[in-house]
Amino acid sequence: MACNESVNIDLHIHSDASDGTLSPSEILTMARHLELGAIAITDHDTVAGSKTAISVGIPDSLNFLTGIEISAHPPPSFPCAGSFHILGYGINADDPLLNRTLDVLQEARKNRNPRVIERLTGLGIEISPDELTDNFKGCQIGRPHIARLMVKKGVVSSVNEAFDKYLSRGKPAYADKYRVDCREAIEVILGAGGIPVLAHPVLLDPLNEKPLEYLISLLKSMGLKGIEVYYPEHSPEQTARYAEIAGQYDLLMTGGTDFHGSLKPEIRMGSGRGDFSVPYALYEKLIRASS
Ligand code: AMP
Ligand code: FE
Ligand code: FE
Ligand code: ZN
Repeated sequence: MACNESVNIDLHIHSDASDGTLSPSEILTMARHLELGAIAITDHDTVAGSKTAISVGIPDSLNFLTGIEISAHPPPSFPCAGSFHILGYGINADDPLLNRTLDVLQEARKNRNPRVIERLTGLGIEISPDELTDNFKGCQIGRPHIARLMVKKGVVSSVNEAFDKYLSRGKPAYADKYRVDCREAIEVILGAGGIPVLAHPVLLDPLNEKPLEYLISLLKSMGLKGIEVYYPEHSPEQTARYAEIAGQYDLLMTGGTDFHGSLKPEIRMGSGRGDFSVPYALYEKLIRASS
């Protein structure tokens, strides 16, 4: 599909295959109504959402990229307290090594939930595994689902409060989970024919004084191909800085809203809080690089 300059894209969308609340089919319908030029479904540690979207059929007016968002360990010399996520675009969703890696990560997610529940019980907050599976049938259950159940039960008044008081790293109900190393995340995406991109640099929360350029050069040496420059939480100054770094290291720029449906109701597909957009030209550069 040819697109003019006013068309926007959203390359960071979660479906109900991970912690989004819309199905892949509903996401496609919404993207078409919003007249987006291209989207990618980037679920946490699963390609199920992308696969379902393809099987239900991509509307003619929309370009679709398969996607993934892998939770990884940062390099040991650049420790981070925040979210270190590697996005992958244009992957072969049937790639055997990718799928084996994702299976291990899915298992680790499942094993983590009982430990979070145990900690909550220790704090006097009763949530049972059955309640979780009954409330979120077919979902890849994680902390956001536990948070939503805590809201439903009146333990907290919002998902954010559940994270801030209990579930975030360093809070009393936090339990760590197995992650792949960033090198493995990058290699597995490359091996599946995809483009690895550092997600939302603003959320890294580095624990040392090394500049972001240090991390980027390290990741680039591992095979990183892009930076998520456009993200609703990036200030105009941060966006400009990340764009400059992308230019300096000859990396692609990507962008998306991190749409999660009603889990993050303030973030709308394609437009974030209303003042956000990602130009179509970035999608064109991305597909040119992947072909
Ligand atoms: P998990 O997959 O269990 O590690 O949970 C990570 C996901 O939780 C993130 O991708 C977000 O969707 C969500 N999340 C993390 N921190 C917060 C927060 N403070 N408020 C709401 N959602 C959050
Ligand atoms: Fe999420
Ligand atoms: Fe993320
Ligand atoms: Zn995300």
